[in-house]
Amino acid sequence: MEQRYDVIVIGAGIGGATCAALLARRGIRTLLLDKNAIPGGKAMTVAKDGFRYDLWPIVGGPSLNSRFAEVLEELEMAGEVELLAVKESSMLLYRGSDPIYRTAIGSAVPGDQGPLGIFELLGLTDEDLPEVGGLFGAMLEMQAEEIAKLDNVTFTEFLSRYRVPQAVRSYLGMWANIVFVVPLDLLAASEAIKTFQDFARGGAGRYHSGGFGRVAEVFCQAVERYGGRVLMKTRVERISVEDGAVTGVVTDKGTFEAPLVVSNAGIQPTVLRLVGEEQFDRSYVAYVRGLVPSWAIMGIRYFLNRPYFEQGMYIAFSDESYLDSERLTRMKSGWLPDELLLFNVVPSFYDRTLAPEGKQCALVGTLCSSDPDLPNAEALWSGIEETAMRIWPGLEACVESRVRYGTAQVSALTRDSVVPGQGGECIGLAQIVGQCGRDKPAARAPLRGLFYVGCDAGGAGGGTHPAAASGVNVADLGGRDHRSRAPAF
Ligand SMILES: Cc1cc2nc3c(=O)[nH]c(=O)nc-3n(C[C@H](O)[C@H](O)[C@H](O)COP(=O)(O)OP(=O)(O)OC[C@H]3O[C@@H](n4cnc5c(N)ncnc54)[C@H](O)[C@@H]3O)c2cc1C
Repeated sequence: MEQRYDVIVIGAGIGGATCAALLARRGIRTLLLDKNAIPGGKAMTVAKDGFRYDLWPIVGGPSLNSRFAEVLEELEMAGEVELLAVKESSMLLYRGSDPIYRTAIGSAVPGDQGPLGIFELLGLTDEDLPEVGGLFGAMLEMQAEEIAKLDNVTFTEFLSRYRVPQAVRSYLGMWANIVFVVPLDLLAASEAIKTFQDFARGGAGRYHSGGFGRVAEVFCQAVERYGGRVLMKTRVERISVEDGAVTGVVTDKGTFEAPLVVSNAGIQPTVLRLVGEEQFDRSYVAYVRGLVPSWAIMGIRYFLNRPYFEQGMYIAFSDESYLDSERLTRMKSGWLPDELLLFNVVPSFYDRTLAPEGKQCALVGTLCSSDPDLPNAEALWSGIEETAMRIWPGLEACVESRVRYGTAQVSALTRDSVVPGQGGECIGLAQIVGQCGRDKPAARAPLRGLFYVGCDAGGAGGGTHPAAASGVNVADLGGRDHRSRAPAF
């Protein structure tokens, strides 16, 4: 087996797979390694008993004009996976002070529906409209220079400039929880507003034919099509360093050499475990240790003996169930809201081949802390079950089997836990004040030849999108570095 490459990419998550595919496409000899059997990392799609499903609820935004579309085009592989933006594909359920959930149908296509559905969902009156309209109008129209000034302003501080009713705060609290998996009171307003604009222009709720993770599989095919190599089930144990520069990696399948190493393993595991603290300045190690992970999503996969759900995505929330920092702290000491915030995705709504005829799989989740050793996991699983059965009467009768998932599984499939409470995070580094915009960690590490890729060093946006954006960015940086060197071998 070839041992020497121009670039080694560790991890075939969305960030690593995007980067490796583009590097290979641009003629750079690329090796992509991942410890799992299937590419996709946190966005992986698996197959079992005639179903294909993602391991947890996942849809993307923006629907149109995404980096995924751009990358597939450059790879000339747009025909391999369809990026699906389906009308009337989602349902929001909101409960304010009254006991009944109100509902609104949503679309993944931008401009397909006005704000009226949301206004009705939230029970807003004519009196609310000037302030609420002012808030959303300001977010939509804000110019890039103004947005950049909000890197150090929390979304809660930004909202305090407007006198909007609790229902709007609950809606935006839910949105911060689902899109960034952080609370409103820590989320950087710059990140929130940039993403809000992307979703308003491009829609949100995209899914992919063949499963969400199919796109990562296609990127891996691209690596091999363009002359690179993909080794799955290969765990990188160490990144080798000589004289202040990376020289390759040591894996459980052997040693590989390259002057450039791109790590999708997470900035904390990369610095603190794969390279080792001794290779970095003390202040950089302290900075890396102090980075804050996003929160997590845990839940239950329901396999149904008949189709029950009529939409592809559901989000159920109330004034009580979206989480801010104070509520998460209370949850850690045993408090739970009466009903939990639920996020539910039904893959076969988007692509009927994803479930056997007459069956359905629903991936339901709620928010929790990123600790892989979650002390209140049992209570949360029970809460999810109770809330789901209350919101969707008749669901219980359709359940053929159910499988729980949690932060320990997320960590095992994606990044190692190297700092207390870290590992099960949903996104990567939290998109909070101090870690966004100009304060986001740089993709180029302070060690010659080492780059980070994925959400930890990504652009703005929700979930998988910053990972793909980071893949594009690091392919550009790595390509430039490669061209500026004499041929490596
Ligand atoms: C429960 C849950 C729900 C989510 N819902 C959504 C959603 O609805 N919409 C959305 O856009 N996003 C969602 N996300 C977030 C999204 O999946 C992530 O933000 C994104 O996929 C992260 O991509 P990444 O490339 O940064 O890293 P990862 O997906 O973490 O990929 C890292 C890869 O590196 C590999 N790796 C790590 N260490 C090693 C090693 N030592 N050797 C070899 N390989 C290694 C891992 O195996 C993995 O494949 C969700 C995530 C979770 C967990």
